[in-house]
Amino acid sequence: MDCLYCEKPLECDSCRDLYNPPGLAEYQALSRPEVPIICPGCGATLVCHWCKTPYDGEDDDPES
Ligand SMILES: [Zn+2]
Ligand SMILES: [Zn+2]
Repeated sequence: MDCLYCEKPLECDSCRDLYNPPGLAEYQALSRPEVPIICPGCGATLVCHWCKTPYDGEDDDPES
């Protein structure tokens, strides 16, 4: 599973676990920025270790 933003292997910034979607719903949520992703390993909001982009469901584009 690669980060949507930097295309490196998506790794949780809190626990350094590689994020693998446990199911289809979680996999599809990754391509929907309004759906927050919770790391199954540590329970924190998933933040990409490499580019520090949070998958918190917040739309960071002020134009939209
Ligand atoms: Zn990233
Ligand atoms: Zn984690």
